[in-house]
Amino acid sequence: MTTVGILGGGQLARMLALAGAPLGLRFLVMDSLADACAAQFVPQLQADYRDQEALAEFASRVDVATFDFENVPASSAQWLAERIPVFPVPSALAVAQDRLAEKTLFRDLGIAVPAYARVDTREDLEQAVASVGLPAILKTRRLGYDGKGQFRLRRQSDIDTAWQALGAGAAALILEALVPFDRELSVIAVRARDGEFRAWPVTENWHADGILAASLAPAKVGSTLQQSALDAAQRVAQALGYVGVFALELFECDGALLANEIAPRVHNSGHWTIEGARTSQFENHLRAVLGLPLGSTAASGHACMLNWVGELPDPRAVLSSPCGHWHDYGKAPRAGRKVGHATLTAPDRKQLADALSSVAEALQRSAQVAGALARLRESALTWEAP
Ligand code: AMP
Repeated sequence: MTTVGILGGGQLARMLALAGAPLGLRFLVMDSLADACAAQFVPQLQADYRDQEALAEFASRVDVATFDFENVPASSAQWLAERIPVFPVPSALAVAQDRLAEKTLFRDLGIAVPAYARVDTREDLEQAVASVGLPAILKTRRLGYDGKGQFRLRRQSDIDTAWQALGAGAAALILEALVPFDRELSVIAVRARDGEFRAWPVTENWHADGILAASLAPAKVGSTLQQSALDAAQRVAQALGYVGVFALELFECDGALLANEIAPRVHNSGHWTIEGARTSQFENHLRAVLGLPLGSTAASGHACMLNWVGELPDPRAVLSSPCGHWHDYGKAPRAGRKVGHATLTAPDRKQLADALSSVAEALQRSAQVAGALARLRESALTWEAP
């Protein structure tokens, strides 16, 4: 009997546990929250990640550890890795925790990135604005997610406000050129313990208020772009000695790709793989960390994932569609909180668009579904992934 330990007990841990059940796996999540949603059906060790006694108990109860949350302190991940197998390796986690380190890695690997500069002082910010140009986006290097810890600068006079907004030097920062991207894309990929690499077809994403709103997969991209996105992901994974699933987030701008960041874990833009691919990102992550053979990452058709943020709509809108799959994370509603998602799957884009139309109608023209629909129409409806 193998027990997988997961640091973090949110919806990603919950979906990992769901994917692990048919593999006969047991799980233990460690999370400081009393209402961690994975703990509704997975045993939980309720403790802070820095609590060494709790980490020791966690290590004694699991065979391998992984993450649902990438901002676990590097020292805790390292401490665990000295006692039990931990994947991804803490050194890979450390790079992904720091936007400057990851951008530098991308650049060193020959992967194009937006212009960027390190900012530690107010003077650095002025110099960075001069070198990167405006508009630009100032971000905290650590602990930012879902658009948090970011400030957009449009004119020189925004420097003061931006500096005040992001902690006036309390945090290490990075200034990036604001990319006038055409689309946001992501690659969800997996690397096994023996170095085998597989990736799902490129996914197209769009965000509302910095939070992922919807994903379409496979994205309508030419084979050259598809290949260059997958090559970039493979180079990053190899350089980091990565094991498990990760996401590489990309901007498509004038037909070229710029790398934004990596998420060292299963990712929201890969949720469509549960019903839309031969093997889900969750199952392949578990296979990778356990040293099992990887499953096929081929898409089984076309899929659209809609994120429910803040509160859930009426599930019947999705459940009444023959293409609809409903995921309620069992979380209390709260503004800005990811509480669930739905995935619609269809053999072609025309049927996917039809399914989205009926769901949109049932949801009373939700802006989000309307957005996904417009995007689907924009991409040739009958386009088939190669
Ligand atoms: P991040 O936390 O870096 O993933 O940023 C959240 C979202 O902000 C991204 O998905 C983009 O929509 C937007 N964003 C982040 N960085 C940039 C950039 N350099 N240029 C344009 N938009 C950006």
